[in-house]
Amino acid sequence: MPVNADTDEAEMEEPCADCGRETAHRVSVEIRTESQKRENAEFSREPYRVATCLLCGTEETTRMNNA
Ligand SMILES: [Zn+2]
Repeated sequence: MPVNADTDEAEMEEPCADCGRETAHRVSVEIRTESQKRENAEFSREPYRVATCLLCGTEETTRMNNA
């Protein structure tokens, strides 16, 4: 399995709202740019924790630096 250098992936059991129980999730941290405007990129690049249910494919995205 190739390692993606841009993400830090792990698999872990987490509750899935769609499945209604704990399932295996692929969890990664991604830097996502919220704005396409280059001038604002410095302020809009936010780290997100992305957890994808391996059973139903539901993706749960959580911004990591919420104040
Ligand atoms: Zn699920």
